[in-house]
Amino acid sequence: MTRLLLIGMPGAGKGTQAERLSEAFGIPAISTGDIFRHNVKNETELGKQAKAFMDRGEYVPDSLTNALVRDRLSHADAAEGFLLDGYPRTADQVVELDDILSSHSQKLDAVVMLTADVDEVVRRLLNRAIEQGRADDTEEVIRRRLEVYEEQTAPLVSVYAARDLVVTVDGLGEVAEVTARIVDALAERGIAKN
Ligand code: ADP
Repeated sequence: MTRLLLIGMPGAGKGTQAERLSEAFGIPAISTGDIFRHNVKNETELGKQAKAFMDRGEYVPDSLTNALVRDRLSHADAAEGFLLDGYPRTADQVVELDDILSSHSQKLDAVVMLTADVDEVVRRLLNRAIEQGRADDTEEVIRRRLEVYEEQTAPLVSVYAARDLVVTVDGLGEVAEVTARIVDALAERGIAKN
């Protein structure tokens, strides 16, 4: 029963690694970005509310994001562990997640901080824009997303570091190599895959 968070700049490779870790640990990968994009695509009420923020590279308001995660973590598959990708991203979301976990009598095992340098992530995101055409992958919006990350999300690392939960892993290199680094770093802390 493993409960992990994945934090890192936009373009650090969280989504890619989340899928691989989900498989390795046998836990669902829950990506708030994917859930929002799915809702935007299907033009749900949530999607309509989230879209304007996402298109500008801003965070979706905490009230919407928190409610979404609270609901998702109450699903049966998350009772046996989970990996959250892209949540929490604000101080308010940290408080909310603490409350959700304590209401389920659960605790986090580790927070994986995936590092990458800014030039590399901008390069990756511009590439992804060409390949996938994500609306928030234009150069101007990418720059805004990086700013918002620095302002609101980077400070969360020290919150989790104070709880001794942070495992920092270099996100540069081959995809499989990065996965192996994460798995090894977690194993060193006694967090083993199934
Ligand atoms: P990236 O990590 O590449 O920025 P994501 O796919 O994780 O992108 O998220 C895309 C967008 O979805 C974000 O820019 C933001 O608008 C919204 N979003 C995702 N997760 C959150 C969150 N925890 N809080 C607020 N907004 C979020």
